[in-house]
Amino acid sequence: MKALLPLFSRPSHYLGTEINSVHKDLKTVRAHVALAFPDLYEVAMSYLGQKILYDIVNGTDHFYAERVFAPTEDVAEVLRAHDTPLATLESDTPLRDLDGVLFSITHELCYTNVLYMLDLGGIPLRAAQRGDGHPLVIAGGGCTFNAEPLAAFVDVMVLGDGEEILPEMLGLIARGKDEGWARSELIRRLAEVPGVYVPSFFEDDGNGGMRPVGGETPRVEKRIVMDMNAVSFPTRQIVPFGKPVHDRYSVEIARGCTRGCRFCQAGMIYRPVREREVDVLGSIIDRGLAETGSEELSFLSLSTGDFSALEALFLSSYSHCRQEQVSISLPSLRVGSVSEDLMRLMGKIRHTGMTLAPEAGTQRLRNVINKGVTEDELLDHTEKAFRLGWQQVKLYFMMGLPTETREDLHGILDLCLKVAASAGKNVRRLQVTAAVSPFVPKPHTPFQWERQISMAEIEERLAYLRNIFRPYKKLKLKWHHSHMTWLEGVFSRGDRHLAPALEVAYAKGALFTSWSDHLRLEPWLEAFAETGIDAESYLRERDPEQPLPWDHLASGVSRKYLLTERRRALEEAATPDCRYEACRSCGVCNLDGRESELTRQAAGHDIVPVINRATRDQEDAGLVDEPPTESPAPAIDLHNKEQRFRLWYSKTGPAMYLSQLELQRIFERAFRRARMPLAFSSGFHPAPLLSFARALPVGVGSVCEWMDFFVREHMVVKDLPALLEAELPQGMRVVKVDELPCQGKAPISNHERFSLGFVSAEDSQRFAARLPAFLEAAEWKVFKRTKKGEPGEVDVRPMVKSITEDEKGFVVDFDWQTLYVSPIFVLQAVDPEFTMLQGRLIKIAQFF
Ligand code: SF4
Repeated sequence: MKALLPLFSRPSHYLGTEINSVHKDLKTVRAHVALAFPDLYEVAMSYLGQKILYDIVNGTDHFYAERVFAPTEDVAEVLRAHDTPLATLESDTPLRDLDGVLFSITHELCYTNVLYMLDLGGIPLRAAQRGDGHPLVIAGGGCTFNAEPLAAFVDVMVLGDGEEILPEMLGLIARGKDEGWARSELIRRLAEVPGVYVPSFFEDDGNGGMRPVGGETPRVEKRIVMDMNAVSFPTRQIVPFGKPVHDRYSVEIARGCTRGCRFCQAGMIYRPVREREVDVLGSIIDRGLAETGSEELSFLSLSTGDFSALEALFLSSYSHCRQEQVSISLPSLRVGSVSEDLMRLMGKIRHTGMTLAPEAGTQRLRNVINKGVTEDELLDHTEKAFRLGWQQVKLYFMMGLPTETREDLHGILDLCLKVAASAGKNVRRLQVTAAVSPFVPKPHTPFQWERQISMAEIEERLAYLRNIFRPYKKLKLKWHHSHMTWLEGVFSRGDRHLAPALEVAYAKGALFTSWSDHLRLEPWLEAFAETGIDAESYLRERDPEQPLPWDHLASGVSRKYLLTERRRALEEAATPDCRYEACRSCGVCNLDGRESELTRQAAGHDIVPVINRATRDQEDAGLVDEPPTESPAPAIDLHNKEQRFRLWYSKTGPAMYLSQLELQRIFERAFRRARMPLAFSSGFHPAPLLSFARALPVGVGSVCEWMDFFVREHMVVKDLPALLEAELPQGMRVVKVDELPCQGKAPISNHERFSLGFVSAEDSQRFAARLPAFLEAAEWKVFKRTKKGEPGEVDVRPMVKSITEDEKGFVVDFDWQTLYVSPIFVLQAVDPEFTMLQGRLIKIAQFF
């Protein structure tokens, strides 16, 4: 696949040479798998689950986990045109040649992307079509608690936490290879591991549920990691090329949530709550920031504000982060879950607006969904936020919730208006955004039996909301695409009958369905029609007396608990969080002699919530060792320009495919990892003072690039090359570092020399044959669109000083005094058949 890089859009996303990526000698590896994410690089590189598994597997000597993501459609076209299979990023191994491909399935709209990747990777789509020579197709992630529509395409699914189960599975795969087990034997042995679900061992019972094939297979239990402090957390996270969706060093501070929101699947399937200790987190944060060079730290959990030692954790990270210009983000904060002191500190390092999730517009409906947030608490929270300097607040709501009325919908507007009013008169750029998503009933929740509103109802309710929001300029309404919600609803509570529809939809081009610019409903509607699926029927209310397609998969939360919570929802009764109040006997934990629903694991484990403190420290500030007062401003002057250096570097091999924007970020992070005392610009968002020479086109190499940077403390110039060299990705090398005067502008060279080498003699001869006509011409006008995209012409002849032949091919001297265009464009003007697949173009000198 890598041979085709010059033809790919964003080729850096297929290099696999990022800092902290792992490269092993394949001869020493006993089990070789790919961690597959069925979405684009930008999304995949933001997913923490895969980073955790990558670290754990590659931390062993004999197992190797590489990455593979869904390529963009134009890249897939190139692969197909060249009959080349999709391959792993690190070692370029085709998927079909691996021992296993492990998909992370995080939402239902990526199901056709799984088929797309299998297909491109040369693996038969259906599990039943695969034989002994094919890799095992494994799926994990939150969706596997009901990925029945995908069951026909997957050999093995994993329910629950992956840290412990994955090495166990790889051990069996390696043993199976050593001992020559048949595929069926390997799958049979894997099925014995707690947390492993083999779809082919179950069949439709004809009544809406599933039954074991020919025997008494117990329900499949999810796997739980009880001690989060005992499993490793990745500090050497891969530093992505470019900008992923979430570009930060994310630390999982806790797993599980017991707030008990009745619509929330994650809050049910990841129980019980397990927090990491503050000391353990402190060490993870220090090492992680040092090893990634990230400029943002994020505390991750389903409900960050409920972490019982949040204030202590925040304070222990705050001073260090402020000193290093690292911002801290706390996503998923609940209303009222942080103290004013903490909010004040957050305000000093915030980069974004505040987001809160009241989820429903009226107290009645918030009681129904068990969102323990009152209007007073919300307004108190936003009033503090505005007073402390926030200007923008985003509120998440759902619509179509069970029992919703017009009054509840209007309540969304009323609440937004009250939030806006809580800003008082002093907020100049006030904006309150309501982001509304239609409700999708999810398996394993108290609302799993509820009806989902139809596409027409979604549109009608959205129109109502748009209409009532229109008069208010300070309020903004955003909404989720109704087609996506509808499809999500079909597949969330789907069953195995949907498999043929997935195949047909994929064949008709339904891909990247969760991207609004890619979403097309037609292939889906055609696929449902052709396979005889009544899609709307999947949105219906379910009878609690009837089996469900996911009843055989145990999340640990009992059906009795879910039914009780459903009843309490209809009674508008709140259920408090069990981590601080009474256990509600949901079934996950084995408390007081009571056996957990997870019987196979409960026998060997003590399954209980694990929290640092019995109450949250942000509620009783003063109990923490250090009072949450304002930390002193950094003693250093971040803006001091002590010295200016010019770093000369080369970028060849894989680094040729890095774009200028990517290089900028690579250097920023490299400087941070090297602990260089960079000088920063002033202003609200200080940025390191770096400047670059003219950008090289992607795919073109250079041995003489430069960039300038300022430091705020004195450094010895001769120490710099070794310090920086260690932090650059494969293909980049430091040539030398010069010290320059701090004042004055850096000149840009207009005379550059390139070496052009061809792989084949035929291409080289063709190019040489076309040269004389070009060199003898006074002008050489070619078609070129203007920056505005309009047709135009450009004379490329004055841009070429000379082209001569040497032993490596050709030496081209460019003159950019009148105009700069890409050197590739000029060479294609000389020889229209020239492509970057034919050779290498390297800048070898520049003259000032
Ligand atoms: S069993 Fe009790 S303590 Fe454990 S998660 Fe369920 S409700 Fe909470």
